[in-house]
Amino acid sequence: MPGFEVFGDEERKEVNDVLENGVLMRYGFDGMRNGHWKAKEFEAAFAKRMQVEHCQLVSSGTSALTVALASAGVGAGDEVIMPCFTFVASFESIMMLGAIPVLVDIDDTLTLDPAAVEAAITENTKCVMPVHMCGSMADLKALKAICDKHNLLLLEDACQAIGGTFEGKPLGSYGDLGCFSFDFVKTITCGEGGAVITNNKQYAVNADQYQDHGHVHVGNDRGAETHPTLGYNFRISELNAAVGIAQLRKIDDILALQKKNYTIMREALSEIDGVTFRRVPEGGVENYSFLNFFLPTAELTQKAHKALGAEGVDACFYWFNNNWHYIHGWEHLRNLKSLMPLPAEIKTRIQNLNETDFSKSDVWMSRTISSLVKVGWTEEQVAQRTATMKEVIIEILNPILS
Ligand SMILES: *Cc1c(COP(=O)(O)O)cnc(C)c1O
Repeated sequence: MPGFEVFGDEERKEVNDVLENGVLMRYGFDGMRNGHWKAKEFEAAFAKRMQVEHCQLVSSGTSALTVALASAGVGAGDEVIMPCFTFVASFESIMMLGAIPVLVDIDDTLTLDPAAVEAAITENTKCVMPVHMCGSMADLKALKAICDKHNLLLLEDACQAIGGTFEGKPLGSYGDLGCFSFDFVKTITCGEGGAVITNNKQYAVNADQYQDHGHVHVGNDRGAETHPTLGYNFRISELNAAVGIAQLRKIDDILALQKKNYTIMREALSEIDGVTFRRVPEGGVENYSFLNFFLPTAELTQKAHKALGAEGVDACFYWFNNNWHYIHGWEHLRNLKSLMPLPAEIKTRIQNLNETDFSKSDVWMSRTISSLVKVGWTEEQVAQRTATMKEVIIEILNPILS
């Protein structure tokens, strides 16, 4: 999924536009900018590409999640249902607002299990936050039905699945709000950056103000602007936004290359008895940034993951015992290790994560290997990689298949 692989002259030109006039900030200094408004331009182009009314750029994907929640009025004491397989940003962004993360199981989509979501709803639940991990999506249709029934917000974290679709709609545009990251390892990057998208006018106005200290952004005298509500600084810089403009123009080429390389690997692995693939919900199209597959047991999966690394097949991930992406690696969250005192709502009401049963998720996670799909691979490199993967996995599975 790495957009950094295609960084080139197009990105340099956009950044140079900014460097030449020296206005590194997205607001104000109208006379000095030579007409360059990179953040605004990126926002308009991104909203169009995602087929939504509004886009708000911010400083990161993590801040996008916080801004999205705050814009929709989620805060202290509210519960947000999220999956136990995700990036740490999910609970960080929720807890930053004094809201309470409620962690629930994933299923064979490697994303939120709708039945687990429904079972976790209480009178304090405000939002369901599916995370479209590793290039594919949650069952958005089922989740939307649950949200509609219980009057909850549906906030999609599409940071790892930009360009994928569900029922023909770009991921991130199906729910009430969608969030994206443009950090350095994402499908398109601007170094550091993120975006919130929505079709809700009020959320868009709130996001615009909240991410910039409450500024109303009316007129051209920043100092004279008013601040109807409290905010924070989650702004993106013009330099970062400039890179994003050039990257966004490349997104469809990136997706096409990912699909090509993904398909070669998938077809080869699907010939192996004992290899199965992550379920993509009906109506969904992946962005092909990862190929995710299951082996029959945890033990064989760990063996295979180790052997793949030893044979030089890089960028294969075993998330089950990884520090950043699964509940077992989040000792700091489970024991609420915080530099500062946490809000009382969180301390008293968060579930006991050391004792919550995630065995249903373990069944899938312990058998999952995810291969990153790079766009820079030559045809020869893909063929070589695929052949080695196939050989290694067959050798590991042979004893149980024969
Ligand atoms: C990368 C990522 C984020 C956070 O984005 P940053 O820009 O790195 O803050 C959030 N959620 C998921 C699923 C991610 O992969």
